Amino acid sequence: MPHITVIGGGAAGYTAALEGRKRGFGVTLYEKSQLGGLCLNQGCIPTKTLLEHIHMHRSVKTAAENLIWKNVPALNWADSRAYTQRMVEELGYGLRYQLKKAGVEIRVEEGVDDGSSDYVIYATGGRRIRPEVLSGCAGRVVDVTELLSLKELPERAAVIGGGVTGVECAQILHSFGTTVTIYEKENRILRNFDTECVDYLEKCLCADGITIKKQTDLMNLTEPLIICCAGVAEQENKKNGRTFCIGDCAPGKKLASDAMWEARAVIAGIAGEKNWKQGVEPSFAYTCPAISGVGMTVAQARAQYNHVTVGYGYAYANGRSKVQGLEGGFVKTVADQESGRILGIHMVGEHAENLLGEATALIELECTVKQLQKMIHPHPAICEILAESVGQL
Ligand SMILES: Cc1cc2nc3c(=O)[nH]c(=O)nc-3n(C[C@H](O)[C@H](O)[C@H](O)COP(=O)(O)OP(=O)(O)OC[C@H]3O[C@@H](n4cnc5c(N)ncnc54)[C@H](O)[C@@H]3O)c2cc1C
Repeated sequence: MPHITVIGGGAAGYTAALEGRKRGFGVTLYEKSQLGGLCLNQGCIPTKTLLEHIHMHRSVKTAAENLIWKNVPALNWADSRAYTQRMVEELGYGLRYQLKKAGVEIRVEEGVDDGSSDYVIYATGGRRIRPEVLSGCAGRVVDVTELLSLKELPERAAVIGGGVTGVECAQILHSFGTTVTIYEKENRILRNFDTECVDYLEKCLCADGITIKKQTDLMNLTEPLIICCAGVAEQENKKNGRTFCIGDCAPGKKLASDAMWEARAVIAGIAGEKNWKQGVEPSFAYTCPAISGVGMTVAQARAQYNHVTVGYGYAYANGRSKVQGLEGGFVKTVADQESGRILGIHMVGEHAENLLGEATALIELECTVKQLQKMIHPHPAICEILAESVGQL
């Protein structure tokens, strides 16, 4: 059996290590800092824990408006931060246990390719971008990965970048009492998402009190804290048959979900499975309301197909959403009228997170409108909004 050296213990590296052991390979995993990398320690898990507190707080406030509870206290940064740190620690212990149990040799040190392994997988993460213009704001700028290390939040903050991390970060800061402005260099935020869904989310964010400035040059920022959410730089792929590059240090999307897929695909390739084709990639932001999408937008579909139809399902018409007090938003399904094939599904609303799994499966498996219409969905259930979106097509 081959031996694999994995350099980097983030989402990409630890998935490769576990996957390698499942297939019986010898695996040594090098991590020079914290197992779990960005996703566990500063990225996905901390931000989603904090956003979960915001979602929960809003649910309780909705319940209070409906007179189930009264006197809902405000969110508290110190408490939420402490809870988040506990989650990160517990998941970190769990990960270490899982790796050890699987028989991965863990080395807490700088990894090197000394030539002794059959294969080397680089999963060393990305280099975060900081716009040059911010060099004049020294002392006030932190990267979004440092969010959890802030003991106190300021009265005002600037968030640089209106991508997923920027918008999520802005909502976190705003919900804990900071007045936030998002600065986006392009003319729209969340460029990878359906425009109609983004417009809806943008209205909600602005109604909450978050300011969004587009096509700005970042000169004269007056906020005492500037959080940089400008993303990760593109890097070259070191793939050469014996060495591979996966996750944020490889070209492509900079998401843990992609990093994990690439890890599984590389290990499958080493095991001799050559048919791992990259499937559709879901996009999501766990904002309030959440936004997600998979497959083609209407514009992309119209560029390829002559007759494109679009159907909608609305949360306000869904019984389960109504009783949960989550009546905002919709599901938008894009289909090719001739073949009936579903080409894209885009969502905004509290359901957008939960329905993304089903939506991804429908697109990946090339499901048609007719097939979805024939499926039984549970009732009353949020997923009925998705089924409803093809009801009239
Ligand atoms: C705020 C934020 C929120 C995010 N939320 C989401 C989300 O909800 N969903 C999602 O899918 N993605 C999310 N992402 C993106 C996701 O976190 C990254 O895409 C993912 O963590 C990349 O994993 P990776 O393993 O490639 O790199 P990393 O997690 O960066 O891991 C690389 C590891 O390699 C180690 N390393 C580097 N060089 C060496 C060396 N020479 N020797 C030994 N070790 C080394 C580093 O210490 C590090 O631990 C978020 C990112 C941020 C910043």
